[in-house]
Amino acid sequence: MNITKHKVAAIHYTLRDNEGNVLDSSQGRDPLYYLHGANNLIPGMEEGLEGRQKGDKLKLDVAPEKGYGKHDPKLVEEVPIRAFGGQKIEVGMQFETNDGQVVTVTKVDPQTVTVDANHPLADQDLHFDVEVVEVRDATPDELAHGHVHGPGGHH
Ligand code: ZN
Repeated sequence: MNITKHKVAAIHYTLRDNEGNVLDSSQGRDPLYYLHGANNLIPGMEEGLEGRQKGDKLKLDVAPEKGYGKHDPKLVEEVPIRAFGGQKIEVGMQFETNDGQVVTVTKVDPQTVTVDANHPLADQDLHFDVEVVEVRDATPDELAHGHVHGPGGHH
């Protein structure tokens, strides 16, 4: 069975940056299950996995445009430090805003904190080693929800 729109695929992956540093990996964990064609993964991954089957191993080089996007300076904001209610704020901390956006602290000054709503991997070239470990049909529930259920999925 090949990976096409609305198949469920499970992959093992290792993600490296341009210098070869490992940024993320599924090794030693359960594989990543996703619903193909439902924007569960970045576009560069879905395009590279289209038509593949169980046992396939591939390398994917993904530019920011097909990955986590270009860094948008408009998504960087300074907020008063008092907005954090007195807790200790450090660079690298992440917060969810009232509208569900995740922001990362990039700078802490005495009176203000700089937060960045860009994805931490924005502007990065991404290099994936991927192995397809399973391909199956999606269930009607999975299609209705737009994500995978059961092992490695939601619920
Ligand atoms: Zn669901």
